[in-house]
Amino acid sequence: MIASADQIAGIGFTSQRTRTRMIRRLIDRGIENEALLQVLARVPRHLFVDEAIASRAYEDVALPIGEGQTISQPYAVARMTEILLEEGPAQRVLEVGTGSGYQAAVLSQVVDVVFTVERIRTLLDKARQRFRSLQYRNIHSRYSDGSWGWASHGPFDAIMVTAAPAAVPEPLLEQLAIGGRMIIPVGSQDTLQSLTIITRTRSGFTQREESDVKFVPFLSGKS
Ligand code: SAH
Repeated sequence: MIASADQIAGIGFTSQRTRTRMIRRLIDRGIENEALLQVLARVPRHLFVDEAIASRAYEDVALPIGEGQTISQPYAVARMTEILLEEGPAQRVLEVGTGSGYQAAVLSQVVDVVFTVERIRTLLDKARQRFRSLQYRNIHSRYSDGSWGWASHGPFDAIMVTAAPAAVPEPLLEQLAIGGRMIIPVGSQDTLQSLTIITRTRSGFTQREESDVKFVPFLSGKS
């Protein structure tokens, strides 16, 4: 079913006023990309979580989406997307860890086409329904272990991983275009992980680390 204008607009805790407060907090925390801020104000985050917690959708926190997974907090989505766009526009982007579909929806509004993979079937099915009902037509999704990337659609201008592996999976590096960048939280679950930004150059890869972040684990296999 296509979401109605009223559903997308929200009321009370999901209204435009609440969303504007979220945007103001993101600006306070240092998000500067104007086009991205406009997208974050527009994408109805409350429709990416269960109705029971929709009223909390615009708080700057991660929220449960079932199967022990979470929708990333707005700041993490904003910062990772901002980094992805830092060096200019990206056309083809791969996301690993579709989850609720929210990050993919945000990406779909700032790049040409999004490919997203998820290893938990029930989450992917729900995310796909959301893409359909909100008519995001430039998102392609696949039920798969993202350790392998999505070679047939690569190379990608950018790859964003929204779960934390202990080390960067090799196939993802291979599917990065020259000049492309990967944003990936790397580290164990016992500590915070470092948000790592890897750029592919003609001769190899360069890497920098940003802030400490907390993401759910990157797991292999399908479920
Ligand atoms: N981007 C999501 C965040 C979801 S949490 C959102 O906006 O809601 C991270 C997701 O990564 C979880 O749904 C988890 O199942 C998925 N994941 C973890 N390891 C994965 C892997 N190897 N391949 C694909 N998805 C994976």
